[in-house]
Amino acid sequence: MDSFIETGLKPEIIAAITDMGFEKPTPIQVKAIPQLLTSDRDIIALAQTGTGKTAAFGLPTVHLTEVSDRSTQTIILCPTRELCLQIAKDLNNFAKKIKGLNVLAVYGGTSIDTQIRALKKGAQIVVGTPGRTKDLINRRRLNLENVERVVLDEADEMLTMGFKDDLDAILSATPSDKTTLLFSATMSREVLRISKDYMDDPIEIKVAKMNVGATNVKHIYHQVQARDRYEVIKRIADMNPDIYAIIFCRTRRETMEVANKLMYDGYNADVLNGDLSQGQRDEVMGKFRQKQIQILVATDVAARGLDVDDLTHVINYNLPDDPEVYVHRSGRTGRAGKSGISIAVIHSRETNKLRDIDRKSGIQFTKEPVPNGIDICQTQLMSLIDKVKSVDVDEKTIEQFMPSIYEKLEHLDREELIKHFVSTEFNRFLDYYKNARDINIPDRGDRRNERRSRDERRRTPYTRLFINVGASNRLDPGRLIGLINQGLDSGNAGIGKIEILRNFSFFEIEQGIENDLIDALKGRNFEGVPLSVEVSQEKRSSGGDRGGRGYGGGGGHRKGGSDRRRGGGDRRSGGERRSGGDSKRRRRRKV
Ligand code: AMP
Repeated sequence: MDSFIETGLKPEIIAAITDMGFEKPTPIQVKAIPQLLTSDRDIIALAQTGTGKTAAFGLPTVHLTEVSDRSTQTIILCPTRELCLQIAKDLNNFAKKIKGLNVLAVYGGTSIDTQIRALKKGAQIVVGTPGRTKDLINRRRLNLENVERVVLDEADEMLTMGFKDDLDAILSATPSDKTTLLFSATMSREVLRISKDYMDDPIEIKVAKMNVGATNVKHIYHQVQARDRYEVIKRIADMNPDIYAIIFCRTRRETMEVANKLMYDGYNADVLNGDLSQGQRDEVMGKFRQKQIQILVATDVAARGLDVDDLTHVINYNLPDDPEVYVHRSGRTGRAGKSGISIAVIHSRETNKLRDIDRKSGIQFTKEPVPNGIDICQTQLMSLIDKVKSVDVDEKTIEQFMPSIYEKLEHLDREELIKHFVSTEFNRFLDYYKNARDINIPDRGDRRNERRSRDERRRTPYTRLFINVGASNRLDPGRLIGLINQGLDSGNAGIGKIEILRNFSFFEIEQGIENDLIDALKGRNFEGVPLSVEVSQEKRSSGGDRGGRGYGGGGGHRKGGSDRRRGGGDRRSGGERRSGGDSKRRRRRKV
């Protein structure tokens, strides 16, 4: 079925959805709409958010509503206030060319009197959360005696949220010959029970799992130690200055921790979880929708009903246990024809979860390294330059200040001036990232490659260098590699053995680039100490006699994690004491 005309829906409805940009029915709509228009049979539909399920039940519901009758003909139940409002909004849009059709949303956390007044005027379609709906029935303000259709949307979620008793009470207040439609992302035991108790020989509709190949979402993962999860988030945010993202956490506590850290670190972030009052949740969601907040840290339940179409990223701070939940989360980006990225931050033992998601949903993940300091600085710098280029200059006002500005900056030439302006804004990033360590965990394939390239490096001749900072200056192998890569503006230099001692250190660098490095590091500061790097004459080594203790400069930052462990091992095994002795006798050539 290629068009809505073939479904048999009224022309007013087709005109309304054409205005909304619907061109052809989605798979669930193809299955559900003709069925609902031509038969009273109950339906169980397994469908997730993003499949077009609201229109699948909403369009036939609008079509079948008898406008001249003011009584409630359809009751739609859903788990949250936000979803309730969303469904009511969609239905109102579908019915906007049909006069006299009233859709009313009833939900908790707001005045019941207003809702009672609205009910008195008559609403043929009521969309409600279970608690408030039951309350209105008990007060005899909502009469479901004439109901022809009951829709249970996100039935699994309603049961998980403890609405089972409310649902039982509401359903028993409806006529037995009604049509029941149940929509659920999963077919849990409780959902089956509801279907057995309240449905009569239902037709089952399943839509194919979301085919990610056909959507615009790229699924990637970063593999790091659990303790580095937050650092990954920071780097993703810094690498994407225009990020507009939801970060999903497992628990409310975790959302608080992550959001607090982000806010403390100066990011435009906030939290959305069940601990917030309804008013606070509305405020946060409103700000997020208007993009006054760029990063929202949320639990799955709290984020339901938050309908935003143009997220750039969905970030899984933790992978959910249920693959369906991942599909749900990632389906929040790449909507409305835009492309999006879904990122999973995982630790070393979580790759089986990725395989599980792949098996159940067909989603394939690509491993990508966490952005390194150089990449982030480059991106931030370019973003700053773009801002400078596109800023509106108020010529008139600024004119009066120009003579004194020119006078002050007179001694700087064009190049110096640019450097000064850029540094004013940019030094904060540079300071944070200049010695950024590598936080990626290599997977097995990477480890094999690493071993191979270590063998190659074993044959590489090295020069041993002395540097005047050590452990007491908070230098570690990761930071040293960062310094080297930064100095050489490359991640490809071959780095050999590293010995971090108390007040100074030694490291090996592939022969031929030592002088470049010495020049590059001269005059730089590390933790407030002006650096001095020299060739150590004592132990000039070539890789061949070092027993394979090479350090990968190739992808420099990337290899830092494992290097650090190796470096630590050397120190513990007495390397420091032995080398300390060497150092007393060393002869140095100052370059
Ligand atoms: P839902 O699964 O109901 O949450 O719908 C997801 C999104 O798809 C909503 O923004 C709908 O407006 C949109 N949508 C639903 N059906 C169609 C359709 N046939 N064509 C284009 N967009 C649709």
